[in-house]
Amino acid sequence: MDYRFSERMANLSGSATREILKLIQKGGIISFAGGLPANDMLPMDELRAVVGDILADANALKSLMQYGTTEGITSVREAMINYIKEDFGITGIGLDELIVVSGGQQGIDLAFRAFLDKGDAVLVENPTYLAALQIITSYQAKAYGVRATENGLDIKDLEDKIKQYNPKMLYVVPTFSNPTGNTYSAGNRQAIAEITAKYGVMVVEDDPYAKLRFKGAQVPPIKTFDKAGNVIYITSFSKIVSPGIRVALAAGNKEVIRKMVVCKQGQDLHTSSLSQVIAGEMLTRGIVKAHVKKVLPIYKKKQELMIECLDKYMPDCYTHTDPEGGLFIWGEFMGSKIDTKAVLSGAIESCGAAYVQGTEFFAGGGGQNTIRFNFSNPSGENIEKGIKALGAYFKAKV
Ligand code: PMP
Repeated sequence: MDYRFSERMANLSGSATREILKLIQKGGIISFAGGLPANDMLPMDELRAVVGDILADANALKSLMQYGTTEGITSVREAMINYIKEDFGITGIGLDELIVVSGGQQGIDLAFRAFLDKGDAVLVENPTYLAALQIITSYQAKAYGVRATENGLDIKDLEDKIKQYNPKMLYVVPTFSNPTGNTYSAGNRQAIAEITAKYGVMVVEDDPYAKLRFKGAQVPPIKTFDKAGNVIYITSFSKIVSPGIRVALAAGNKEVIRKMVVCKQGQDLHTSSLSQVIAGEMLTRGIVKAHVKKVLPIYKKKQELMIECLDKYMPDCYTHTDPEGGLFIWGEFMGSKIDTKAVLSGAIESCGAAYVQGTEFFAGGGGQNTIRFNFSNPSGENIEKGIKALGAYFKAKV
């Protein structure tokens, strides 16, 4: 069959992390590649209790097993509105301003789908979340990188690029970014809100990691500085409860959320009602809060151990970020011609350890000498073993 795939698919390849996850599924490989919570850090007892209660109520269960509304279950949305108000300081959100989505990933997709036409420009931090780049490409739009420091976007570069490319949107992960782990300062967030409002640029604020802070003080979301209604705030339950339940929320201006609802109608009608209620109950019973409190010291310890091992075993030219939370550490082999993508399969084979090559996260190429490590999923023992092996491997490659 000569398949006549859409033009949209022409420049799309599979996500690098998803491909690496396939490679390491063979088993026996230490993975620093994914962005997964550790298996023993999923709140299993709490999940069992919540699901047990839901299943026990036959009438309520029947309604969950029917079709639901695209916006999401009202009581769940109310719990979410309260959550983003209490935990993030986001106020002024009513039921019309929030939609339940099937993972933050769908929230990003709906936001882009609602706004982007072929040939549109989108600004992103360089480097940024690789799946956002993939979605932008899928809408035949083009991503342009904005320079960033460890404290946020370079505001002058942001304004220059807005003038140069006339972008419709800016996509950012301002807290414990994927891939760098960096966090924008409050002042930087305010400046982003003001400049994008001035030029009529929509902001997609993707914030799945904010609750995973184990050092330093919380920073308010860009959304809290939004006076023009140009910020879409997305946060997910994947990293703080379970990725498998596929529940997240998107909050924004009523008109924008309505468009996202219409887009979602064409994708999956609505997010699984059972999953929504699980997330809602985890919020209202205080389980999310308690669970986060429980896992933070464990993540902190793992991150500190990984930093210690990277400092001890990596070549001299290697430097890395030291994030105050999240799931990732971002490294660079300074001044080295190493191509971390080219040597990845060798690393998996000879070290039994996998990472993600940095190139995948850059709009417009570059970053061959960069690398992303996840520290939440591997055990402490495997962090030591894997980084030690990778350190020796990279010393011979740089
Ligand atoms: N945004 C970022 C920055 C992510 O790192 C991820 C997951 N890796 C997602 C969105 C998607 O997460 P989910 O769909 O599970 O909420």
